[in-house]
Amino acid sequence: MNPRRIIIIGGGFGGVQCAKILRRKLTPESFEIVLFSRENSMVFYPLLAQVAGATINPGAVTVPLRQMLSGVRCRTEEVRQIDVAASEVEYEGYDGRVNRMSFDHTVIACGASVNLTMVPGMADHAFPLKSVGDAMALRFHVTDQLEKAEVCADPERRRWYLSFVVVGGGFTGVEAAGEINDLVRASAKFYKNFTARDLTVTLVHSRDHILPEVSLTLREFARTKMEQAGIHMVLNAHATLATAEGVELEDGRMIRSGTIVCTIGTTMPQLVQRLDVPKERGKLLTDVDMRLRGISNVWAIGDCAHIVNAYDHGVAPPTGQFAERQGSQAAHNIVRVLHGQQTKPFSFKPLGQLCGLGERNAVAEILGVRLSGFPAWWLWRTVYLLKSPSWSRRIKIAFDWTWELFFPRDLAYPRAGRTERIGRATYRPGDYIMVEGEPGLNFYVVERGEVEILREPRGEPTRIMAVLGPGEFFGEMALIDNSPRIASVRARTAVEVLVMGKEVFSDISGALAPFHNLVAQALRWRRPRSNPRLSQAWTVLEQQPLSVLIDAVPAQRLSPDDTFEVAVRTFDQQAVEFLCVLDNNGCLQGIVTRNELFETFAQGKSPATQVRDFMRAQPIAVTPDQTCLTAGDLMNKHDLDWLPVIETKEGRRLIGVVRSEKLLCYLMQQARSGPAVL
Ligand SMILES: Cc1cc2nc3c(=O)[nH]c(=O)nc-3n(C[C@H](O)[C@H](O)[C@H](O)COP(=O)(O)OP(=O)(O)OC[C@H]3O[C@@H](n4cnc5c(N)ncnc54)[C@H](O)[C@@H]3O)c2cc1C
Repeated sequence: MNPRRIIIIGGGFGGVQCAKILRRKLTPESFEIVLFSRENSMVFYPLLAQVAGATINPGAVTVPLRQMLSGVRCRTEEVRQIDVAASEVEYEGYDGRVNRMSFDHTVIACGASVNLTMVPGMADHAFPLKSVGDAMALRFHVTDQLEKAEVCADPERRRWYLSFVVVGGGFTGVEAAGEINDLVRASAKFYKNFTARDLTVTLVHSRDHILPEVSLTLREFARTKMEQAGIHMVLNAHATLATAEGVELEDGRMIRSGTIVCTIGTTMPQLVQRLDVPKERGKLLTDVDMRLRGISNVWAIGDCAHIVNAYDHGVAPPTGQFAERQGSQAAHNIVRVLHGQQTKPFSFKPLGQLCGLGERNAVAEILGVRLSGFPAWWLWRTVYLLKSPSWSRRIKIAFDWTWELFFPRDLAYPRAGRTERIGRATYRPGDYIMVEGEPGLNFYVVERGEVEILREPRGEPTRIMAVLGPGEFFGEMALIDNSPRIASVRARTAVEVLVMGKEVFSDISGALAPFHNLVAQALRWRRPRSNPRLSQAWTVLEQQPLSVLIDAVPAQRLSPDDTFEVAVRTFDQQAVEFLCVLDNNGCLQGIVTRNELFETFAQGKSPATQVRDFMRAQPIAVTPDQTCLTAGDLMNKHDLDWLPVIETKEGRRLIGVVRSEKLLCYLMQQARSGPAVL
């Protein structure tokens, strides 16, 4: 007879403990225990901040599941759905195919996920701390910031590199701030361009005390010790925006920083979100014995479950301590059900809290006893060393901690292995996205807002060369020419940009002809600005108001009520390149070119179709107070030979047109007037 099956979803604190007990209690002949987990190892989260702070190595906090769980079938695959009615899980196999597996009982232990969307910009600019990858990325970023500060000549930029902000004053935020502070201050002596006094580590917290879970005296102790260590506390402050420049607070204050760590915000994993069962604040609502409400063979434990603790009738907090205990008790309850016995409600007396503060200080509340400072730090290390899931990891951690007593923290920053990708970034008005003279690393596409291209020659006023809006791009020239940036780019409004690394940019422009052509066309216009003679020509165009080069309103025009047939006949008889569409007041409603005519024809529209239905509405137009350079820029960007000129942007009354030939004639006239001009 085939053994029956228990499936555990999630190889974290809760899932691992549950699997261990079940394997011990049930014989392999009678029950198969299957553990699904996205990763093949369990992460020991309490020491993750120490990985970010380079105190211990990542291998010390990850334990391979199959080496820890002998007799359990570990599957490194993601469960996508649970079909409660059919008692089956649906999972994505190694080959991307969706498979199903039946169960007698299943335990959902898939934890919680990071939610960086609570504060705008965090997803783009902040580092979370929820995986070993996050901790490593943060560690390398911090050391990279120190390297950049060492070679940065601009004192203000250097301060930005040396400023680190942690958002959230709970356990994770406090430990992360303490670790980063220790890392950067202990490392400052290896650099020549700055000292420890130039470093700023700031902890932003929304309440008036950090560590709300511990007693008031310990909270006060933690704050004082951290301030003495050089950490700047910003309390009663809500972060409202994260940008490439730093964190903005609710009261408008801006903390400029090149590193933001976000430790606030969690959400439920997709698997939980998809399950159509009773929930409380997104978590799976369980009965007292941890079965899903009203379902006899599906259990939920750990951070993804809403479980009432029978010990104090409070809701169990999302901690490893509770998840582990729930895992153990859920396993025992499953065994009771299999043996036809009564299940027991979840009941656990919390053992206490421990939190490292940095500089060999900690706070601890264990079984009602409060400790702080060095003794608490010693206890903190001892407890976590013993709680680490395997002896091999305990030895690794002990080794790393001993190493750290005698040697400085490791500042190696291995660049290899970082994959370039397409990302997004958010900027506030006035923030610089690119600075003239810097090497070109990225290509940008404006998704929202406006940016201005600037030249800021020393001792001369800033010149705005162009304004770009949604759909337009910049940063290509330095990538193609492999040269420093020839202009700066600054956000004119709040801006969101798509950021492409150099390799991705080259791959796309090599493979996609329309993209390549678009970039080449932009370059034709933008590159001459670096050519001295043409740059002079642009200066002349920039100084010349458009008003002197405007031609009269063309006699041939269309009204929005005219028909497709009339439009075609007008083109045919008058041999024009374009027709302006004006309303009764002479205001520009649209334009019609051959493209619109062909498209309308191709769509099979009737000859009676009105012009308003196929014209290019609200076409690009200039006003007489704009410069010839703006007109030329727009014509080039949009591949036009002419532009309508309207009286004002609001009224849009057509007062003439400007043609590219006219601009060229004007430049030639200026050239003839002598080399002093051109
Ligand atoms: C930085 C940090 C420090 C912490 N420090 C402490 C501390 O000092 N003390 C303490 O008690 N607690 C601490 N915690 C909290 C503690 O780690 C969590 O409460 C605990 O990990 C929850 O256990 P869990 O089993 O519910 O989920 P997790 O341990 O998060 O494990 C969930 C597992 O499920 C997997 N998974 C998710 N979805 C799927 C799916 N669909 N299919 C397959 N697998 C899936 C995940 O990959 C993961 O392996 C800390 C947390 C963090 C992030």
